[in-house]
Amino acid sequence: MSQTPFFKTDCPSCGAPVEAHSASAVTLVCGYCNSMLVRKDNGVVDSGRDSALLEDFSPLQIGTSGTFVAQRFTLVGRLQVQYDDGAWNEWYALFDDGRAGWLSEAGDLYVMTMPVEIDNPPKFEDTQAGFSELTFQDKHYIASDVRKISLKRAAAQGEL
Ligand SMILES: [Zn+2]
Repeated sequence: MSQTPFFKTDCPSCGAPVEAHSASAVTLVCGYCNSMLVRKDNGVVDSGRDSALLEDFSPLQIGTSGTFVAQRFTLVGRLQVQYDDGAWNEWYALFDDGRAGWLSEAGDLYVMTMPVEIDNPPKFEDTQAGFSELTFQDKHYIASDVRKISLKRAAAQGEL
């Protein structure tokens, strides 16, 4: 990740500096007042939403870097998703080659998700845990967990 921000402005809520490193991120969370800001034209507008996270003692944080399939990435944002039995983190990862992915963190389990082109992708509404199958790059997959989440119960940090 380049250390030079792609975008820099002041938080419309508290005036603190906020910056983005991803050209594709659409929301930013102010690190000072937790206001969720939405990028619009050349600036940001306050969504009016507070985005404080639950303390989950994650070993990861904004700025943590790593390597996935020989490509370096840096975590630039976090979406903390809540569901009936708890919460997990979806970290927004920005790769040095400009691509982006999501690193899911649930307890000590991590999964990197990146967009790919496939023919006839299965529809989410039709996916059933234990039944739905997919073959991708000669590997066979069966859905093991299918969940709908509500972003009304999500909190965020950084840029997404
Ligand atoms: Zn602020």
